[in-house]
Amino acid sequence: MFQCPHCKAKGIGVWAKFWCGSDMPARCSNCGELSYVHSKYRFGFQSAWPFLVSWLAIALCVYIFFVSNNIYVLLLAPILWLSGRFGELASLPMQPITEQESVVNRKFGNWFILGLAILVIVGITVGNL
Ligand SMILES: [Zn+2]
Repeated sequence: MFQCPHCKAKGIGVWAKFWCGSDMPARCSNCGELSYVHSKYRFGFQSAWPFLVSWLAIALCVYIFFVSNNIYVLLLAPILWLSGRFGELASLPMQPITEQESVVNRKFGNWFILGLAILVIVGITVGNL
């Protein structure tokens, strides 16, 4: 469980924090307020070290696979990757957000996806002409 930025209690579940964004915030089980991990932390400098370590660990797995010819070493890669993501996430701060703000973000996200879908459809149509 992670600390809630509203009530300071450990009310945010691990999965909630793992999946949350400004469009789908995590709800605190203690006070019911919403919070999320800002995208600047998801892709920014703060998360660079665990990110780098996970990639290095995966590169090491592939290297050991080639050296030892043991296929089971490759199974370690996704496990190391996930544990790296969890370690990264656990260190990130949560930001408070209101229900209204999250609805605005969700609408924006939907328009973004719709725009992307239209671009893909137009691209396919133009390509087939
Ligand atoms: Zn709370």
